[in-house]
Formats: sequence, structure tokens, C-alpha cells
Amino acid sequence: MRELRYKKQIYDLVKKRSQEDDNVNEYRMPDAYDDEGGVNQEKRFSVAMERYRDSKDGDKMNPFAEQEAWEDHQIGKATLKYGSKNKKQADDYNFVFEDQIEFIQGQVMGGVNVDDEVNEEEYEKSIAKSAHEKLLADRKTLPVYPYRESLLKAVEDHQVLVIVGETGSGKTTQIPQYLHEAGYTKRGMIGCTQPRRVAAMSVAARVSQEMNVKLGHEVGYSIRFEDCTSDKTVLKYMTDGMLLREFLGEPDLQSYSVVMVDEAHERTLSTDILFGLVKDIARFRPDLKLLISSATLDAEKFSDYFDSAPIFKIPGRRFPVEINYTKAPEADYLDAAIVTALQIHVTQPPGDGDILVFLTGQEEIETAEEILKHRTRGLGSKIAELIICPIYANLPTELQAKIFEPTPEGARKVVLATNIAETSLTIDGIKYVIDPGFVKMKSYNPRTGMESLLITPISKASANQRAGRSGRTGPGKCFRLYTAYNYFNDLDDNTVPEIQRTNLANVVLSLKSLGIHDLLNFDFMDPPPAEALLKALELLFALSALNKHGELTKVGRKMAEFPLDPMLSKMIVASDKYKCSDEIISIAAMLSIGSSIFYRPKDKQVHADNARLNFHMGNVGDHIALLKVYSSWKETNFSTQWCYENYIQVRSMKRARDIRDQLEGLLERVEIELVSNPGDLEAIKKSITSGYFPHSAKMQKNGSYRTVKHPQTVYIHPSSGLAQVLPRWVVYHELVLTTKEYMRQVSELKPEWLVEIAPHYYQLKD
Ligand code: ADP
Ligand code: MG
Repeated sequence: MRELRYKKQIYDLVKKRSQEDDNVNEYRMPDAYDDEGGVNQEKRFSVAMERYRDSKDGDKMNPFAEQEAWEDHQIGKATLKYGSKNKKQADDYNFVFEDQIEFIQGQVMGGVNVDDEVNEEEYEKSIAKSAHEKLLADRKTLPVYPYRESLLKAVEDHQVLVIVGETGSGKTTQIPQYLHEAGYTKRGMIGCTQPRRVAAMSVAARVSQEMNVKLGHEVGYSIRFEDCTSDKTVLKYMTDGMLLREFLGEPDLQSYSVVMVDEAHERTLSTDILFGLVKDIARFRPDLKLLISSATLDAEKFSDYFDSAPIFKIPGRRFPVEINYTKAPEADYLDAAIVTALQIHVTQPPGDGDILVFLTGQEEIETAEEILKHRTRGLGSKIAELIICPIYANLPTELQAKIFEPTPEGARKVVLATNIAETSLTIDGIKYVIDPGFVKMKSYNPRTGMESLLITPISKASANQRAGRSGRTGPGKCFRLYTAYNYFNDLDDNTVPEIQRTNLANVVLSLKSLGIHDLLNFDFMDPPPAEALLKALELLFALSALNKHGELTKVGRKMAEFPLDPMLSKMIVASDKYKCSDEIISIAAMLSIGSSIFYRPKDKQVHADNARLNFHMGNVGDHIALLKVYSSWKETNFSTQWCYENYIQVRSMKRARDIRDQLEGLLERVEIELVSNPGDLEAIKKSITSGYFPHSAKMQKNGSYRTVKHPQTVYIHPSSGLAQVLPRWVVYHELVLTTKEYMRQVSELKPEWLVEIAPHYYQLKD
């Protein structure tokens, strides 16, 4: 009882902190703003859910009544609440947490193949001495290890092999090494594709350690704008997008002896296109081995597609996972996730396992990190140490290794991850998974050609993968921050492959430059909607990348050299004409960083805002402001101090510089001269418009805008320098949907430019 009272004290402290939160202005990234100047998760949730429901046929009749009935029934079945094994514990639990989130236990996901190799593992580990010896011993404990010989035999016997194995069984890190050990790298490289850059980098790092070689030598990685390989490289991890680009230079992939298309179940756009391309070259390159690996069991589909290729199953080890649902829908999933994490941390002994929380993106993860730090600050030794480990696509390399470091005794790790931790990365030691049920996805409307980032409910398949992350090293628990009714009735079974919900302009341009003209008859595993293909052709035609026969033009050929979206590469190619390529590649680089440029420390918000406004002086628009940031930094000789003084993220800027250097190299390749013309803002904006004229909008009443080509109501994002200015005509970089459809990175344009630049696309009416 004393212990309970103690826990209650701590909980009260934590709660007090969280109430303080309401008064304190939380630290937020500027990008996370909505019109009220704060992040409105509740609104965001309801918008996402509404959209999602709208997108499905017909509304459900009063879903909540049904849900309540269902849940009453469930409560009758399972009175256990989270954290309680019996009635008494449940009472104790309520005593500690008055303001808790209530969970209802649902199904238990079965444990499979929990075998008795554990003793052998322990033995292997105990005799190992040096760190490297330990790594070698660890390799032998992975589920794939006992199948090493039969796998090698299968690869020898078959040209194409589909490999299926639970996440963490060793597919990505081990199979390329086995093939290397068996001599396949004597004839060429082994290439292994990953849908995500962080996965490619981190897996390559791990494998180089296991092989005791320097990263970038025998084992390397290649991601967009970053090539960490050398002449020595034999195992090459890369994003699927990079292998796609390699086809442009080497259409038969002659330098490879094995291609492993990993994480095939993710069905990213690039992976889907790769399927068609590798299937084709395998026909005339009998020496090329093709491995298609996947974490889920719908391998039949891959096998069918690859002319009935055999399926090699690696039996996994999985412990049972207890699934818990919230009693009622949680309006604010971010807060619910934080409260749940703290509930677990305070009530469960620290040594018993780490926590993995799935969030939708960098901004959300940073917000969660701040709040968690705030609520546990000053509790000192009252609670066990909580080590917060964020992981998302643009996390700087130095910080990526942190999530894999073993948790020190007496502490607990909470990993705040995007979908990357769903199957791409395996983090050992996770016992609790918190799943809010959302993911950030690109959504695309093939009718209007409009694309936007959208927080969307996940599929059942995703939810189960997420839950499975908690049962790798022992029995796990998964807390779903949605109701069982939501799970069974609202979530789709599977995620729709990206190819069916995205803008295809980029892919069409790549295929055209590979000489593949008949796109309608390309061997797609799941063909994209014909409408989307047509829209892509239309856009490429409007950008002058294709002629009216659908053939690649000179402009299109140049555009295809840039690993960028066609609108962005068109903007660069057009800068030749407007004699400002130097400025335009700086802007293109700044637009491609993918993470925030400015930051806003809680205690210095006014300073930070002023620093930001400096770059927007004269209402030049966001593109020119980005240029000013880059040029000013360059003038200080890339000073870190200058970044601090101006509340600018040094890392983002360094990345911009790297990207810019590469774009400069590509300019040379397509024979565009590097010309600087910093004073002529009109020339710069005309170049931008040459790429982005399909993204133009005209002001309507009360601060809203209407997109010109396919009328839709949009708003200027509050983080834009033009948010208060509201020019009559604007061109924008991208649309983001949070509480409203927002245009991000906006510049003013003159309507006559549209007629001048894209007469075939726009005819001016007023
Ligand atoms: P799969 O591809 O089947 O999901 P992996 O080969 O990625 O499995 O992982 C096998 C093991 O290697 C896992 O236990 C995982 O924790 C470990 N591992 C993978 N990448 C790293 C890394 N960067 N650092 C430390 N351990 C890693
Ligand atoms: Mg893997």
C-alpha cells in the first residue's frame, strides 16, 4: 500500500505537469501550426476521420450506438483493464490512476514457433568475448540462421525466389551476407533495396559492423543525394528509388549478380515499378539472381507475378501479444499516446521492457518528445529514467544509432517512431507498443491531379504488424488508441499500394526515358488507374517534357536527369532561359531538405519570429526567403554561429548545401550554365512559375484561395511569409491538409506570366 501511495504522489506530479502544459506555450515547430497558432490535434483527428469516412461508400448508421453495444458486450467478456492481471490489481491500478485512459482487452495474437533454442543462444552469447565475436554469435541466433544452407541451395536452383519471414528474422542483414560468403559477389554486386532511406543507412551500418569493415568500403549504401559506396563495395543497400535511377544509366544492371527487392509488402511506387523492370531483365540475364522478400504472408501474389517463383518461408519466433483497445475513441491521439506511455512507465518495473510509439511524422515526434520531457522533468529519482529515442526519415545519422543502443539497467527506453518501425527496422527489447492508428500518406485525386499529405487511418494489416513489434523477445502488449469497433469496422484490410493513390508523373518520366512507351501495357502487378496515367502524361506534356505524340522532348530528357519531381526539375531547366540557374538550384535544394529550417525555442519565440521575418522583408514570398536564407549563410562562409543567431537548423542547411552541390553537378551534365542573377526577382519567380504553373491559385473572399486549373478552396499556410499579405495571385510548392487544405511555400505571381509561360494550359478570363 505504501508503494501505491508513492506511485500516486508521482502520478499527481506528472498530472500537475500536464495541467501546467495548458498554461505554458509548448515548443512547436513552425510547420506544425494551424490558424490558431497551435496544433489542434482534435480537429486534425476529426478532419482525418471525416475524410476517411467520406472516402468510403456510404456512412455507417450511428456508429457509436453500435459501438457501445459491442463494447458493453466486450466489457462483460473481459473486465480486465490495462496493467491488471486480476481483480485486485485492477483496483490498485484505479487507485493510482484516476485520470487514466481505459483499455479493454481484445484478442491475443498467437505466439508461433517459440522454440527451445534459447539455451543455445545463451550459450553462444556467454562464450563470446570481443564485441565483434558477440556480433558473430548474435548472427547465429537469428531465426534465418538454421536455414542458411537450404536458402543458399534454393537460390542456386532458382533464378527468382520469394522469401517470407517475420520482421527481425534476419532477412535484410543476413541473406546478402550469406550470398557474399557463398561467392556471389565474385561476379558482381549484391544490391538490396529498401523503401526508406533510414533503413538503408542503418542496415548497411549494422552489416558493416558484422563484417568488421568500414562503412562505404565492402558494405555501402546509396540514397538520394548521398552515395556511401566505393570501388570496393560488394553489398549495396539502397532505396528502391535509387535502383530505379540506376536503370537509367545501366538498363541491364550488369554490375549486379543479385538483386534483392526487400520489404516488397510495402508496395511503394518505386518497388512496384522495379518489379516490372527486374522481371524483364531476368529473362535475358539468366545469371542474375532475383530475391523478393516480404514480411507478410501474402507471398502468393508475388510468386504468381514472377511466373510461379518458389516461396521460401523462414519460420519466425513470435510470442503472444495481448491487444488492448480504448473504451471510447480518443480525440487527441498524441496526448493519449503520451499519457499511455507514462502510465506504463510509472506502473511497470523499468527492466521489464521498452515502449514503442507509432506517430505520423517528425513534427509530431518532436512535439511528443518535448511534452514527455516536460512532464517528467524534475521527478529525478522518483521515477525510473525514461530515455526518449525519436526515429524518422530525416533524423540525422549521428542520432540514428541511439535507438539500437541497449537500455541501461534501471531505465526504460521509449521509441517515438514513424511507420519506419513497422517492418523496416527492428528494435530489440520492445515489450509495449502504443498504436494511435494513423499514418501520414500521400493522397492523390486523379480527377484533379491534386496531391496532398494526409493523416490517414492505417489498415488492419498495418495494425497487426505494429502489434507484432512487441512480441519479439517475450510476450508483448499492444495498446491501440482506438476502439475495437473502429478496428473491425473502419479499418481497411490492407493498405492500398502507392501506385494506385499517387501522382505518376515522376515514374512516367523515368519509364519514358528508359524507352518504355506503351505504359498501358507495362507489366504492373496492380495497374494504376488509367485516369492517373493520363493525368501524368497530361502534366508532362504541359511541362513540355513530352511532345504531343507522347515522346520525350529535349527538355524532358534534361528533366529526367534530376532525381526530383518533374515540376521541380522543370523549374531548374527553365532557369536556363531566365538566366538565374544559380539562384534556382539554391531554392530547389532548400525545398528538398525535407525537414524544418527554422526552430523556435520556447523561451525565445519572439526573437526567433523576428529573425524569420527578416528574411521575408518586402513580402518577397517564401521561395525568395529560402534563397535569402541560403545566400546569407553562404556569405558568412557557412557559419554555424550565424545559424544559431538566426534560429536556423544547422543540419538542415548542411543538407541543403550537399543537395545544392549535386544539383550543380547535374546542371553541368545537362549543359546548363551556372548563371547568377540575384537582383532579378522577376526572372527567379518566372522560373519557379515555369515548373509550378499547375499550382497557381487566385484569392477569393475572406482570405481563401481557389486553385486555377481545377477549382478547389485552399489557404496560405500560417507559417508562410505571405499569410498576412494575401496577394491576389500565388504559386505554391505543395498542399498539406491539416485542419484545412493549406498551400505551403508560396510566392506571388502575375497572372500574365501564366499565359506567357503556359499558354496551352491557361487562357486568361479576367
Ligand atoms: P528482417 O529484415 O528479417 O526484419 P533484420 O535483418 O533487419 O531482420 O534484423 C535482424 C536483427 O538485426 C534484428 O535483431 C535487429 O535488431 C538487428 N539489427 C538490424 N539493424 C540493426 C542496427 N542498425 N543496429 C543494431 N541492430 C540491428
Ligand atoms: Mg528487413
